[in-house]
Amino acid sequence: MVTFIEKDCFNHCRINIELSIAGIILPYTSIYICVRIISILMDDGTGRCSRILIATFYFSFISLVTGCTNKKLSQPFNQDSSYSRKDSLLTSKETPDNSISYDTGKRYIYITLDDGPQHGTMKCYHILRSLGVKASFFMIGIQGMEKRARLNVDTIRNAYPQFLLCNHTYTHAYHNKYKLFYGKPDSALADLAAAQDSLRVPLKIFRTPANNSWAIGGKYRSPQLTRAFCQAADSVGYKAIGWDVVWNFKNGATPIQSTTEMVREVNLAFDHHEAFTRNHVVVLAHDRMFEKPQYADSLYKFIALLRQDPRNVFETIDHYPGVAFNK
Ligand SMILES: [Zn+2]
Repeated sequence: MVTFIEKDCFNHCRINIELSIAGIILPYTSIYICVRIISILMDDGTGRCSRILIATFYFSFISLVTGCTNKKLSQPFNQDSSYSRKDSLLTSKETPDNSISYDTGKRYIYITLDDGPQHGTMKCYHILRSLGVKASFFMIGIQGMEKRARLNVDTIRNAYPQFLLCNHTYTHAYHNKYKLFYGKPDSALADLAAAQDSLRVPLKIFRTPANNSWAIGGKYRSPQLTRAFCQAADSVGYKAIGWDVVWNFKNGATPIQSTTEMVREVNLAFDHHEAFTRNHVVVLAHDRMFEKPQYADSLYKFIALLRQDPRNVFETIDHYPGVAFNK
């Protein structure tokens, strides 16, 4: 790239110099000849008129050369549209909505983390990042309002394609009032839209709080409680993502299953075709479960064990079948 730019720079400068010489020498040679002819015709015998005309010519010549040189120096180098196009390609970032092709010999695992931004969110971010594993964070709008929390939301959103920011409603179903929330689909939809806007969620992908609901392009599987809400969300282009395997917790944040038990459950979901979509397993956990060092280590070991199977591929949920335009 450096060689390419240097070579182009050299050619660019050479062309400019050649054009400048042609543009200055040719017209001024013509003007000089004209001035000499006029001075000869107007000569009063003292030579004064001839000297004034020649001096005027040289002053204007010097001014023009100086002006040209300054103009060249003040111009930015890459004004050419072709350079601008190259720059935009070099700096363009991948955005969530690109499709992928599935390999039938692989098993697709979608790690999803709910209820952020909260304690443990950045711990998960750093662990998964160090392992180079993709994951999706389903975040709560109201928890992303405080300055530090907002920065964490921004970090996750900007970390695509490794991480994808998704919607987990604005108030987490009116602070866990599930019957009230799901009982009024229109106001629940407004709550979902509020999270979408405030967190600046890139795609219309959400998870229903405390309920395992699926709604992807008319394909449903949900409890009766969330059915009307999922249908309303589906009608305006949202995709509801449930889960196939859940890492349970007690006392608010302590993981229940061991890492080996979790790997066994993931393998069972694949082998017994228990997943919502065959060969695609969505794993649910919560950010706060991995805040303490001993449990952060559990997340690390869980991923490390899954990676030992060469069939396993980790993906973000925008690449789940039917969510984007996947094949
Ligand atoms: Zn939740």
